[in-house]
Amino acid sequence: MGIYGNERADWLAKGATKLINLVPMSVLKSFYKSIFKEHVISQWNNLYQNSHNAKSTKEFFPSIYGRLRAIHFVPNFRITQFLTGHGNLKAYLKRFNLSRTDLYSCSSGEIQDVNHLILSCSKFTPSRCLFTSSLKKNNFASRFLYFGPEQNLFCIVL
Ligand SMILES: [Zn+2]
Repeated sequence: MGIYGNERADWLAKGATKLINLVPMSVLKSFYKSIFKEHVISQWNNLYQNSHNAKSTKEFFPSIYGRLRAIHFVPNFRITQFLTGHGNLKAYLKRFNLSRTDLYSCSSGEIQDVNHLILSCSKFTPSRCLFTSSLKKNNFASRFLYFGPEQNLFCIVL
């Protein structure tokens, strides 16, 4: 005579093998994979959104879902540095004492960070206008979120 719990488990397992014919086992493996993938992405999104890190990146991609939908967006080294705010910008360099100032040399008196370069730096006004008008002309404007005093492009929420 063995341990009661083990005998009970063996008895239930043996009985379960007979239930396979009664319980439909026709759920596809792809279904389980999609459920698992959905769960992992949901957890990833929760970690991302609840994290105190990636402040600059979150301004461009507020959620993991939005980033995953932006399949046309293929980052490279420079774009990644820019979107993360970890590039060769004075705001970032000053944090690590690699620059004496965080001010940009555009004479605006503003800090050289991603927001300034995208939203308001006069050095990039022609490029900004060209890009924005190109988006509007090609009907992409409705797929982007705009804000700011001049309705500048800021947040990609595809
Ligand atoms: Zn500027």
